[in-house]
Amino acid sequence: MSKRDYYEILGLERDASKDDIKKAYRKLARKYHPDVNKSPEAEEKFKEVKEAYEILNNDQKRAQYDQFGHAGTGSQGFGGGAGDFSGFGDIFDMFFGGGARRDPNAPQQGADLQYTMTLTFEEAIFGKETEISIPKEESCETCHGSGAKPGTKPKTCNHCHGSGQLNTEQNTPFGRVVNRRACHYCQGTGKIIPDKCTTCGGTGRVKKHAKIKVSIPAGINEGQQIRVSGKGEAGVNGGPPGDLFVVVSVKDHEFFTREGDHIFLELPITFAQAALGDEIEVPTVHGKVMFKIPPGTQTGKTFRLRGKGAPNVRGYGQGDQHVKVRVVTPTKLTSRQKEILKEFNEIADNDPLSTEEDSFFKRFKKAFKGE
Ligand SMILES: [Zn+2]
Ligand SMILES: [Zn+2]
Repeated sequence: MSKRDYYEILGLERDASKDDIKKAYRKLARKYHPDVNKSPEAEEKFKEVKEAYEILNNDQKRAQYDQFGHAGTGSQGFGGGAGDFSGFGDIFDMFFGGGARRDPNAPQQGADLQYTMTLTFEEAIFGKETEISIPKEESCETCHGSGAKPGTKPKTCNHCHGSGQLNTEQNTPFGRVVNRRACHYCQGTGKIIPDKCTTCGGTGRVKKHAKIKVSIPAGINEGQQIRVSGKGEAGVNGGPPGDLFVVVSVKDHEFFTREGDHIFLELPITFAQAALGDEIEVPTVHGKVMFKIPPGTQTGKTFRLRGKGAPNVRGYGQGDQHVKVRVVTPTKLTSRQKEILKEFNEIADNDPLSTEEDSFFKRFKKAFKGE
């Protein structure tokens, strides 16, 4: 099933502001929330709206989506998208989330991670399958994230009664002030662990070097990123893990440069090759290509080798290689070479069969003579 455009789902233009996105989401979520709307399609609609909102409201995910479409938001390991959806949540929590008290036992999504990967010029063009090792927090396997020794259970904190927060009252000249702060007995978790898991020390989380397979699509370019769904930090209280964002940095090549899908090369040729024409080997990232330089080629002339550039990262065809010819003026000449060139010059000056550019050259010389 092809997915609908996220902007279309929320009824927004592509340049919608964060405020517009929030407003559109609230309006639609209210309309389709299963607590409110009992029609059979409401649940599906609500999921769709929620997914669109989760992507567009996250700057990183939105950029990814704008760049790669749904392909950019899909996971690499398992089916992402609507499958990421976890429960409906409390409608009041959704709409008044800002002011509402946060339940310390509610599932929370793990943090997103960012990893910068340096690629060679060629790797960016051809893509590659690679494995990276990143330090990250994962749920402790011994206690399954609870922090309690196997066979024991965490207890509800009896100072805050599981809310994770304590009120402190203070009498001031302006009246009684109530401060709410994180409970220091349980560090705001609402739980006390009498028998801590020895693997994680009661945190429920362990630092690990996780090996993650990443496939770099052919044609990726500097600054673009790949989202690996679910490979960020572990979630808290059974919440889903965050995502891993692999940001690409491409090393410069000694000879090639790149703009979008096109590759540029400056090709040095001799004065004789330029004048007489020649068939020469031109390096490309796809291997050497034979190319005929026509006689009378001027320095700065650009030739295009079709399809010898980078593949488009979204699969829209292939770029070209642009070859800019640079005629190299010899700096060290043997006396024999000098002799020939002098002779050449004498003949050229009296040549009646001059091309248009030659005659321009002569007019130019004449015009500035004696100055
Ligand atoms: Zn407490
Ligand atoms: Zn543990």
